[in-house]
Amino acid sequence: ASAEPLLSVNNIEVIYDDVILVLRGVSLAVPQGEIVTLLGPNGAGKSTTLKAISGLLRTENGKVTRGDIRFMGEPIANAAPESIVRRGIFQVMEGRRIVEDMTVIENLRLGAFTRTDGARAQRRDIDMVLDYFPRLRERTGLAGYLSGGEQQMLAIGRAMMARPRLILLDEPSMGLSPLLVKEVFSIIRTLNRELGITLLLVEQNARMALGAASFGYIMESGKVVMDGSAPALMDNEDVKEFYLGGG
Ligand code: ATP
Repeated sequence: ASAEPLLSVNNIEVIYDDVILVLRGVSLAVPQGEIVTLLGPNGAGKSTTLKAISGLLRTENGKVTRGDIRFMGEPIANAAPESIVRRGIFQVMEGRRIVEDMTVIENLRLGAFTRTDGARAQRRDIDMVLDYFPRLRERTGLAGYLSGGEQQMLAIGRAMMARPRLILLDEPSMGLSPLLVKEVFSIIRTLNRELGITLLLVEQNARMALGAASFGYIMESGKVVMDGSAPALMDNEDVKEFYLGGG
């Protein structure tokens, strides 16, 4: 008998502006302690799926109109984003939305906005995050001056400050050099292994994502069209052709 997954998305439909149907019955499961990846072409609905889970859909006038989302057994579809953060889900948005005219430390503090455990615990966590991202420790100026890779690290570090159980990561490799992509993925695996953080990872870079994940889902036009263990997907001929560039 398998335990209930940490997160389950059950046949959800999502509509923007009351008329634009974008997700047409999406289901997926994320077990505790795993890295799961969501792949697919532009416009397939991957970001929308993450926003449905984090509640950020609301800020774009989107709504889950069918199906349900359960986190630790509790329904969370259409709940307020802040209440979802309090339950332990933190989304790192696409395009690393750090606050450019704040320092690294100030950005990190923002991640702790729902915590009530006091300044000392938060200072300790800032130190822990900076141990994971030693480059950021050296950057004392404004976050706007960080390189793209450093900003992505800061965005992930800010998520860590919320002490989440589940991080939703939207295209962490976007705009990064191959070397930095490797570095960011190595950090993702370390967070999973050492801190036990569960991750749901949206990626264009299918090779890196399937290398880090244990399980994957492939979306097209608002639906999941294929799923499987990461090794099985990497071996699949269609996945090889369309997502792994031949090889
Ligand atoms: P990408 O990799 O380009 O971000 P994606 O798979 O993440 O693609 P989504 O961003 O979820 O896809 O977009 C899915 C569809 O929903 C697209 O057709 C997009 O135009 C539409 N869409 C996204 N956000 C909104 C919005 N706020 N209002 C209306 N339509 C939207």
